[in-house]
Amino acid sequence: MSHIDLTGQRFGRLTVLESAPRVDAYARWRCRCECGTLIAVSSRDLRQGNVKSCGCLRRDTARALGKSQQRRMAARAEAKIAWKELYAAMRRKELP
Ligand SMILES: [Zn+2]
Repeated sequence: MSHIDLTGQRFGRLTVLESAPRVDAYARWRCRCECGTLIAVSSRDLRQGNVKSCGCLRRDTARALGKSQQRRMAARAEAKIAWKELYAAMRRKELP
């Protein structure tokens, strides 16, 4: 297997600092995430894009998804109230 030096390269939020002790068939790299966390990632995971952060990226994405879902639910609740008011207005007109 050819040894490719990934030092200094960026993969998503990770910057490769140095090679890390290898624990399996794949070379491992010590990486620093944008949030400051240090993790060791295999070169295979880095190059295939399996790992792009220490895990904070996934947390942020989940949080963003949660927010948009909350917005959707709020919008739906508002729409329901709007319909209720519309029906109420129609009823008032029909029954003075
Ligand atoms: Zn991170």
